[in-house]
Amino acid sequence: GVAGIAAASVGGLPGTGAGGETKDNTTALAAAPDAVEPVAANNAFNTQLDALDADARDFGSRASRTQERIDLKVRQAAEKKKREEEAIRKEAMRPKFALPVKLHRLSARFGQSGVNWMSVHTGIDFPVFSGTPVMAATDGTVRTQLNSAYGNMVIVTAPDGTETWYCHLSSAKIRSGSVKAGEVIAYSGDSGNSTGPHLHFEVRPGGGYAIDPLAWLRSHGLDPTS
Ligand SMILES: [Zn+2]
Repeated sequence: GVAGIAAASVGGLPGTGAGGETKDNTTALAAAPDAVEPVAANNAFNTQLDALDADARDFGSRASRTQERIDLKVRQAAEKKKREEEAIRKEAMRPKFALPVKLHRLSARFGQSGVNWMSVHTGIDFPVFSGTPVMAATDGTVRTQLNSAYGNMVIVTAPDGTETWYCHLSSAKIRSGSVKAGEVIAYSGDSGNSTGPHLHFEVRPGGGYAIDPLAWLRSHGLDPTS
């Protein structure tokens, strides 16, 4: 106990040879708390290590989840890029011109003169039943018009300014906005100055004079006669 150590220290003070003993006792006195403290320190240290270990595991787990999120983002970005490239490829492959109806037959050609026309025929006629789907010949923007001669009309203006006219329609399916070549824009009919159901189709570069739609279609790789 403390009393014993104190006695030994006091006893050792006067003696010369006892100095060593005093030092020993001092060492012993100093060592006594140390003997307890390492256990506590070790426990504390172990607790710290455990905490560090837990932190490391937690960090590892978080790092792993972070990596998974990064992988997912990389994968999603790659898939998005692939979809965009596919869309560009499809757009490049897509036909930019289309025949206005599926029927490959004409009942009247451009430049013909006849009792039905004021001067000469300014378009080509497809002999189709009323209600036949009519497709946009080009990409472009749509507008509609009602004309006493042409009846119900849809006009598509291509990016280069070329207008294609679709006339004597029974109804328009698309009245405004943009369309792609081949998209159904209207249904054929017999409206206006018409002698029976058919589609009258015109091509007007820059919205000006009508040119021969047959030559124009053929120049774009399409033939409405075969
Ligand atoms: Zn016509």
